[in-house]
Amino acid sequence: MVKAVVGANWGDEGKGKITDMLAKEADIIIRFQGGANAGHTIVNDYGKFALHTLPSGVFYGHTTSIIGNGVALDIPKLFHEVKSITDRNVPAPKLLVSDRAQIVMPYHILFDQYEEERLGKNSFGSTKSGIAPFYSDKYAKIGFQVSELFDEELLKEKVERVCDTKNILLEHMYHKPLLKPEELLNTLHEYRDMVAPYVCDVSLYLAEAIKEGKEILLEGQLGTLKDPDHGIYPMVTSSSTLAAYGAIGAGIPPYEIKQIITVCKAYSSAVGAGAFVSEIFGDEADELRKRGGDGGEFGATTGRPRRMGWFDCVASRYGCRLQGTTDVAFTVLDVLGYLDEIPVCVAYDIDGEITTDFPVTAKLEKAKPVLETLPGWKSDIRGIEKYEELPENCRKYIEFVEEKIGYPIKMVSNGPGRDDIIYR
Ligand code: GDP
Repeated sequence: MVKAVVGANWGDEGKGKITDMLAKEADIIIRFQGGANAGHTIVNDYGKFALHTLPSGVFYGHTTSIIGNGVALDIPKLFHEVKSITDRNVPAPKLLVSDRAQIVMPYHILFDQYEEERLGKNSFGSTKSGIAPFYSDKYAKIGFQVSELFDEELLKEKVERVCDTKNILLEHMYHKPLLKPEELLNTLHEYRDMVAPYVCDVSLYLAEAIKEGKEILLEGQLGTLKDPDHGIYPMVTSSSTLAAYGAIGAGIPPYEIKQIITVCKAYSSAVGAGAFVSEIFGDEADELRKRGGDGGEFGATTGRPRRMGWFDCVASRYGCRLQGTTDVAFTVLDVLGYLDEIPVCVAYDIDGEITTDFPVTAKLEKAKPVLETLPGWKSDIRGIEKYEELPENCRKYIEFVEEKIGYPIKMVSNGPGRDDIIYR
């Protein structure tokens, strides 16, 4: 059976923890989109890890970790990450890389930096991992597939052709050093040698696995609101963050995805620019940021402070709907235990009109939050294992949110560890 673990919001909802937890029962875990630009933080028996490219199931000996064709594959970063976990006594993961995955080239990372520099105050707040230039090239049909590393003639010709194009921009638009085709070709030879043992016809492998009844997890990066079509365009990421894209980015039939676990955090956080209706500022935000997640709400990739806000029912209901949610995992609830009262954004006021439907970006920019305040539970809920044992106000908070978003909260996460989970 195929399950997807995806985010309802801006990312950082705690998907890594939920995937790591579900991976216990899984055979295969696949990353199907995105690149090394976002990170998952995982706490388990080996310690605390920040993963960027490897699927969150890599810590179990019994799982196969797959980089799907939809991923922006940064080969040196992938192997650096493998080393960073094996150096800490995690057994070497069983890794497969799709022969159709495309490669983040060194110049994608440079172009990402140069473009953000050029945009100055209008920049996107990119993590400068090369993701936007990578996907631009993929759709402009000048990207490099892993399979192409193994065809020397094709590779050489393509490197020269692409360098010609890139050098026009580097010289005339960015006034930066030019690319040297021979150097790039050498780099690609190194990439080829690194990745060669892992290359696989992933869609074929998965077709077999599905036939054999294997348990397969699709692991999403970021969340609905960062989807290029359905998110807060243009402040989005460059590949689809939706479960539906899991079928494409892994190479499986869409109807095989039977369960869609959408992860929602009990409050909001976001990185990068863009409208964020329930955002809070000042001391109130600092306090939540400091207490948030596991050791504070700071980017797993960049370390930058995340923007903070109250739970947004409008955004989350929309986020769950676009994912096709079957189950909601409601995470990081323990963090809210310090609050006397907890505001929740239940609707948007857009030019005096009250709505619970998430609007297009231009309207979203004008939206003001309509808040309702719920009583806090003023206690530490970590360690609680049964839903009935949660404080009454805590259960009321969960049930209030569930009613507003309209999708069943089937899991409540009350701590960063694998076992900090309450099933309903
Ligand atoms: P992802 O990108 O969606 O995987 O999210 P992040 O890795 O940014 O995750 C959220 C952070 O919250 C990480 O530091 C997790 O260890 C932590 N975390 C996940 N679930 C919980 C939870 O229920 N409670 C607490 N306190 N921290 C959690």
